[in-house]
Amino acid sequence: MASPPPPKTLTIAGSDSGGGAGIQADLKTFTALGTYGLSVITALTSQNTLGVDGVVAVNPPFVSKQLRAVIDDIGVDTIKIGMLHNHHIIEAVAETLTALFPPAGSSKLPPIVLDPVMISTSEHVLLDPSSLPALKTHLLPLCTLVTPNIAEAKKLSSLERIDSVEDMKAAAKKISELGSHAVLVKGGHLDERQVYDVLYETANGEYTVFEHPRIHTKNTHGTGCTQSSAIAAFLSKGNSLREAIQLATDYVQAALLASFDIGHGSGPLNHLV
Ligand code: PLP
Repeated sequence: MASPPPPKTLTIAGSDSGGGAGIQADLKTFTALGTYGLSVITALTSQNTLGVDGVVAVNPPFVSKQLRAVIDDIGVDTIKIGMLHNHHIIEAVAETLTALFPPAGSSKLPPIVLDPVMISTSEHVLLDPSSLPALKTHLLPLCTLVTPNIAEAKKLSSLERIDSVEDMKAAAKKISELGSHAVLVKGGHLDERQVYDVLYETANGEYTVFEHPRIHTKNTHGTGCTQSSAIAAFLSKGNSLREAIQLATDYVQAALLASFDIGHGSGPLNHLV
């Protein structure tokens, strides 16, 4: 007899040949957290623990084709979006989601968690900077949660300085004005000892500050991908947004503590925690 299916979580993102970030991190996270992982690949990267040395974008109609194939047959409970690479892919994803779940922005859309990936830690450009307006206009209004780090939050909010939790609150509120239901500004780089992530929820105007100790390890490759995927997985399992963020943060902490050396650079998180 067949078992009941687990919740389904889809990632729309780029592939990391080194297995630490992107689609590979997302699928590992989905599986580790007990959901069925699906993937729509937007770009291939040639990459290892030392960095990215090449990117090839998937042609936008084929990104849409993958998305339709998944939704038409299998369906999804939650969607995580990561690296989109260029505005043609951003537009294809936004248009296809809108066509598959009409009308746009209605409750018919599954929860969407967008990690607005722009530059890798190794400083490789993962989103063409001229694509920022397309991201803001076409995709953010469809999202339940957007999870920028400080550098991405500066680009999305046009604020020049984000140096404190108060600045993070201002940035989160400003980004929410682009149309998402909530914004989580991740403060990973602000403080040596503590990490503060600031959530702003548009519906009730409330801020929540998630605080946790910084884990000192060089093996942080894929942290952002893993955090946003874990949030999506917990949403698939029926947790509220705040619960999903707290549970995802705990998971990332454990995965960082258990991370290991592999290759010669920044190693991956350990998903088997
Ligand atoms: N490669 C891909 C495909 C990604 O999606 C990302 C981040 O989202 C990265 C690389 C960068 O990972 P990190 O900055 O954690 O090294």
